[in-house]
Amino acid sequence: MAETSPTMKTGWKGGRRDDKMFNFASSMERDILYQALKKYFGYTSFRGTQEEIIRCVLSGRDCMVLMPTGGGKSLCYQLPALLMPGVTIVISPLISLMKDQVDTLVQMGIAAASLNSMQTDLEARQVINDCREGKVKILYLSPENILARVDDLLRDFPISLFAVDEAHCVSQWGYDFRPEYTQLNRLRNLFPTVPMMALTATADKVTRMDILNQLHLRQPQVYVSSFDRPNLSLSVVKGMKKQSKDKFIREFIKDHSGQSGIIYCLSRRLVDTVARMLNQYGITALPYHAGLTAEVRSSTQEAFVYDRIQVVCATVAFGMGIDKSNIRWVIHYNMPKSIENFYQEIGRAGRDGLPADTLLFYSYADVISLSAFARESTQHEINEERLKRMQEYAEATVCRRRILLNYFGETSDMKCDNCDVCHHPPRLFDGTMLAQKALSAIMRSEQNVGLKLLVDILRGNYSQEVKSRGYDRIKTFGAGRDVPPRDWNAYVLQMLQLGLIEIAYQEDNHLKVTSLGREVLFEGRPVSLTVIDRDVVAPGLSNRAPRTRPLFVEDERPEVTRSAIDDRELYEALKLLRRQIADRQGMPPYVVFSDRVLEEMMRRCPLSVDEFSEVPGVGDYKRRKYGKEFVKVIREFVKD
Ligand code: ADP
Ligand code: ZN
Repeated sequence: MAETSPTMKTGWKGGRRDDKMFNFASSMERDILYQALKKYFGYTSFRGTQEEIIRCVLSGRDCMVLMPTGGGKSLCYQLPALLMPGVTIVISPLISLMKDQVDTLVQMGIAAASLNSMQTDLEARQVINDCREGKVKILYLSPENILARVDDLLRDFPISLFAVDEAHCVSQWGYDFRPEYTQLNRLRNLFPTVPMMALTATADKVTRMDILNQLHLRQPQVYVSSFDRPNLSLSVVKGMKKQSKDKFIREFIKDHSGQSGIIYCLSRRLVDTVARMLNQYGITALPYHAGLTAEVRSSTQEAFVYDRIQVVCATVAFGMGIDKSNIRWVIHYNMPKSIENFYQEIGRAGRDGLPADTLLFYSYADVISLSAFARESTQHEINEERLKRMQEYAEATVCRRRILLNYFGETSDMKCDNCDVCHHPPRLFDGTMLAQKALSAIMRSEQNVGLKLLVDILRGNYSQEVKSRGYDRIKTFGAGRDVPPRDWNAYVLQMLQLGLIEIAYQEDNHLKVTSLGREVLFEGRPVSLTVIDRDVVAPGLSNRAPRTRPLFVEDERPEVTRSAIDDRELYEALKLLRRQIADRQGMPPYVVFSDRVLEEMMRRCPLSVDEFSEVPGVGDYKRRKYGKEFVKVIREFVKD
């Protein structure tokens, strides 16, 4: 076996299990960690378990890191990579992700490169040469590439660490299985002395176990962070028809002016129509789905990442390959089929840790079509159960975050204060009479009606179908005239959730009264329903002053002469400068600085390059490279 980690006089002796263990207590080592954190990343403290994880890696031990999106996983291998001799190999599933990460690192003055299938042989050889000459510290590779290159790598340069990013791709149970990932278990045998770490944002327990087994990690230390994403607001809007939804979305986007967002839809057709609708109203949006060519999809993705369009309307196919940190909102035009999917999709917002808003539209029509998908799928029982759990989220009468976290095994009785339920706790009323009207109408029409016809009967609408079937002559015809149709929709959804009725999918989606429903109808068993409040405003929508949670608590603001500063204008000016710098270098704006760093600049108003270097997220390299330009813009705002 080749020497994979030559000892160097300076730096860590990490990378070999039999090397001297990293000394936890040593304050000198601690200093080195914090100095590197400030120098390269511009931060003064680690987040959560980052420091522990980094120490574990430096001690040469295998580990698995489970952290939500935006939690700060990358730093857990990037920082050790800089402190250990040799090259850290990062295995990443998509070229676009690799490119993004390499760009981000290079922007920080860190020697990073990637080997991918888009390169010519010559280019690839150059990269390997650079690794050999110690010019590269972090090398990104796809799994198939690494296996093809295993011989060069073994022979050519010392490897300090293998970091398997998006490690859930190794598991068939995971969200995004990639057969190439399963081959990675060979690495453990080929490089027995190089530590290996697996990282993922997938919380699922089965998947976790599978990752450990598949990658053959050795006595791994497992780090599990909370999957809570407190910066994401959660809201649900129920029972809206297309037109009202579209209007609602336009209002929502108006409230998020200039902020990037994604709208997920159930079908390609919807994706196209929603994108078209938005464009008609002057909102820049493009569709993204599997029916478009690869070129169109990649140019849409690029336009979004580079902030050239504001919105992408997409099927689930969108999002996996992008690292864009400034997605400020995610809307689900339709309900997803499971909480896993939902959490992955909303998780794409707010990676920079700043507030982001999520909104789910929930309707009877979605329940019908999703149930059909679930029933017809191979693992129908599991899928039907998953859908049910998703519906529970939509119908929640307790904090929505609590439901999400409970789903991922983090039981809590929290009240997050950043979801619509916490903001406007649902009010219950005695809905027995109301439920009885609906149940009676279903029984009197011999359980032969679906939702639309039921509402027609209750509302007393003389529709064609009502007349031809003689339903205008039944006793409950018009008994629910006082309740608007949209509310009837919402009440029927609640009754479904309560188990008073069920949908007979095999019989044209007709509604059937359950035994519990019969108790309500015939024995007067009481039913509590939730008041449908038309005036409730979801988090992230106007009427809520200030619009989002204040970014900074007022007295946290440092003393700066900033009497006449208009935050919004300064922010726009900083964004513009970021954009110009990004364009100059052909990079997405968030790679230059994340929104969070811009917000910090706005808050601190550094008036010299030295002060600029105090801004969290500004490391040495960016201070030298951009300090003057940003300080100049800020000075212009501060001087008057
Ligand atoms: P993940 O890979 O887990 O989705 P990232 O590694 O992209 O998350 O990190 C998300 C954001 O958090 C990045 O903008 C990153 O710079 C920032 N971040 C990471 N670690 C820290 C830290 N210790 N202090 C402040 N910000 C951090
Ligand atoms: Zn809540």
